[in-house]
Amino acid sequence: MSTEPASTPAASPAAAGLSIIVPVYNEAANLPLLHGRLLAQAASFARSRGLRIELVYVDDGSCDASLSVLRGLKSDGVDLQVLSFSRNFGKEAALVAGLDHARNGALLFMDADGQHPPEMVEQLVSLWLDDGFDVAYTAKAHRRNEPALRRFFVREFYRLLNWGARHQIPPDAGDFRLLSPRAAAALRRLPERNRFFKGLSSWIGFKQICVPYEPAERLHGMSSWSFKSLVGLSIEGLTSFSVAPLRVASVFGFIFAGTALVFGLTIMVEKLIWGIAVPGYPSLMVAVSIIGGVQLIMIGVLGEYIGKILSELKARPIYFLAEHEVRAAAPAPEPK
Ligand code: UDP
Ligand code: MG
Repeated sequence: MSTEPASTPAASPAAAGLSIIVPVYNEAANLPLLHGRLLAQAASFARSRGLRIELVYVDDGSCDASLSVLRGLKSDGVDLQVLSFSRNFGKEAALVAGLDHARNGALLFMDADGQHPPEMVEQLVSLWLDDGFDVAYTAKAHRRNEPALRRFFVREFYRLLNWGARHQIPPDAGDFRLLSPRAAAALRRLPERNRFFKGLSSWIGFKQICVPYEPAERLHGMSSWSFKSLVGLSIEGLTSFSVAPLRVASVFGFIFAGTALVFGLTIMVEKLIWGIAVPGYPSLMVAVSIIGGVQLIMIGVLGEYIGKILSELKARPIYFLAEHEVRAAAPAPEPK
């Protein structure tokens, strides 16, 4: 089976078109501005490159007016799809829905809150069309505006994720990225239900390039990632991409077993040669409780992997659609 759609050598890559996928969760205040900026970009692409643009908005069960704002968006010069979930399934699920429904060859993923500047789309498209890259991903140039604790955890997360891994996942890469048609086709062939999008789109390979960018402030509202959900995503990323936590368990096991052996030998030698009896229980209690605690942690680590196997086995759908609207492009307004 081939991953690539058959293409005629003469067809220019731009003929595949581009679908821009935007996950939306409570972004009613941000959508009109973002949409306006995207329409302006799309109009300029249509003129300069003959590139057809489709916008795919995925409403991830928002509780505000996002869905009615989406329904009212104009489709001047762009094809438009509005998908709406039956409940909040999470950003990763929204990205999968976009991947499943996009009708153009190349894909671009961006957030709805204005933190991913639509003006950068041009640079990403040029890396694909002019320089032949398959995955153009962006990475925050710095994290100065984030709390120190979060920066620390992010750094350590990537260090653990990439520890001893054959395939390194670039640190700080974001979900704001462009995939060429063949990269998008490869991503669609990955069957897993537990998704860690950044990891998967790096894992598929092909020609990849990193574009640093200055993260903008959110236009309105607050980030919907709480500390708890970030911990959840990190565990997701770690357990789907790395066996480092299991390896840490083995390393701990060796260290404790080694120490216990040396300790035991010392006691035997002391008793047999010098007749010194080991006094008291405190040292024994400490040793037992340390080993017990470490074992509990490691059972938890194993549990994470077993839970993942269970959820893959159940093979439930990743999301359910409540609504799906497809609109063809309305005639674009004349450029002023
Ligand atoms: N989002 C989503 N489902 C969720 C949470 C977030 O689709 O459950 C969307 C959100 O609307 C935005 C993007 O994912 O377009 C990034 O979310 P956010 O800005 O809250 O995350 P951050 O920028 O802090 O990583
Ligand atoms: Mg954001």
